[in-house]
Amino acid sequence: MNKVIVIGGGLAGCECAYQLLKRGHRVELYEMRPDKQTAVHKTGLLAELVCSNSLKSRDINTAQGLLKNELSQLDSLILRVAERTSVPAGGALAVDRTEFSREVERALSEFNELNVIRKEMTEIPDNDGYTVVATGPLTEGKFAESIKTLTENNELYFYDAVAPVITAESVDKEKSFFAGRYGKGGDDYLNCPMNEEEYVLFQEELKNAETVILKDFEKHEVFNACMPIELMAKRGKDCMRFGPLRPVGIKDPETGKRPYAVVQLRKEDNYNSMYNIVGFQTNLKFGEQERVFRMIPALADAEFVRYGVLHRNTFLNAPKTLNSDFSYINNEKIYFAGQISGVEGYLESTMSGLMSAINIDRELRGKDKVIPSEYTAVGSLMRYIALPNVNFQPMHVSYSLMPELEEKIKDKKLKKEKYSQRAVEAMKQFVERISKE
Ligand SMILES: Cc1cc2nc3c(=O)[nH]c(=O)nc-3n(C[C@H](O)[C@H](O)[C@H](O)COP(=O)(O)OP(=O)(O)OC[C@H]3O[C@@H](n4cnc5c(N)ncnc54)[C@H](O)[C@@H]3O)c2cc1C
Repeated sequence: MNKVIVIGGGLAGCECAYQLLKRGHRVELYEMRPDKQTAVHKTGLLAELVCSNSLKSRDINTAQGLLKNELSQLDSLILRVAERTSVPAGGALAVDRTEFSREVERALSEFNELNVIRKEMTEIPDNDGYTVVATGPLTEGKFAESIKTLTENNELYFYDAVAPVITAESVDKEKSFFAGRYGKGGDDYLNCPMNEEEYVLFQEELKNAETVILKDFEKHEVFNACMPIELMAKRGKDCMRFGPLRPVGIKDPETGKRPYAVVQLRKEDNYNSMYNIVGFQTNLKFGEQERVFRMIPALADAEFVRYGVLHRNTFLNAPKTLNSDFSYINNEKIYFAGQISGVEGYLESTMSGLMSAINIDRELRGKDKVIPSEYTAVGSLMRYIALPNVNFQPMHVSYSLMPELEEKIKDKKLKKEKYSQRAVEAMKQFVERISKE
């Protein structure tokens, strides 16, 4: 019987262990808690949710709801336990966090072939077999150093300030225009102009918007690194106009004049389907980001693919280090799963643990590795993380990562339904295929 080492008993590590165990493999799962806690974990329980108890929308016509359907087709333990321990939360799947973690532990403890070792790993073991690194976004110390050494080129990032990302199609093209500053860079930037009245109103709201309370461990890093946009707003009327919203070198083709202020959007992906709001790293609550940033005229209907966040986040530069199946490019017996692999979110992390296990099992049985169709939420995110990208940031599932529909559909609701139908069918075929092999 083959032994697989899984390092980290979080969402990705537990899902990965379960998928390997149910396929008949032996698993050694290393978890450093409760002896050593991260800055945000509080218990010794496996699969502890570090922040919100919500796993987001259940609606299948949202990317998050679709991911749930796909994970359910793939028999995810984390999703099944989340359903079993859910609490009322409108259209979202939210859980009783303690019950959730206990249930995951209970389900794993049913396997005799699981050995949970409560120990901090300080390096990636020299192991003939497979190793899955699932130590999460708060990986630090000697273990982080060993990942850096492995990836030779310091391909491990410690980001603490991230700007929001919105879908390209939700930007009002009538109220924005492509241009580089001083005519340089062609159409690299989509510019969202504001007149003085709009700018002043925006600055006022931004100053007073609600922020997430930062824990002590985060404060130091945040303020040394990068200033949140709301702090700039507080520093005076012109601070943002001299910073990321500066209009110099930009002419609005509509008026032929320099706007009072300009918010710039930069392409986030190679499909031109998403934009990053440049310089808008923020600590605003997610709802406040929607409310306040939609005051920018061209962003009145902006759809957020990822919200801005300020917290420590350790992740690999996946396009340079990982294959799309989450294995390390220079040693395919080492997998990186969870947030450290460049995916973002509870269920995305779960997904990468699950897919790593499927492929390790297949390799151990002499089969080719598999990735679900690019039409699926799972397959499109797996492909995205390995695509060349000089500005790589961790990514959620999103319809914008999937190929466009063949038919042109204007109605947004219907469009999402079609994307989801296509994905559900593609995942069904994938599951049928791998279950026969
Ligand atoms: C502050 C913060 C808030 C977040 N909030 C949300 C949110 O609300 N919603 C959301 O969808 N996503 C959120 N995320 C992002 C992400 O979804 C979660 O971090 C998620 O828990 C990632 O799952 P994971 O399995 O990769 O890591 P984790 O769940 O963190 O699991 C990693 C495990 O590895 C263990 N470990 C670490 N180092 C070692 C070592 N050297 N040896 C042995 N064990 C080790 C840890 O103790 C931990 O149990 C948040 C991230 C952070 C940092």
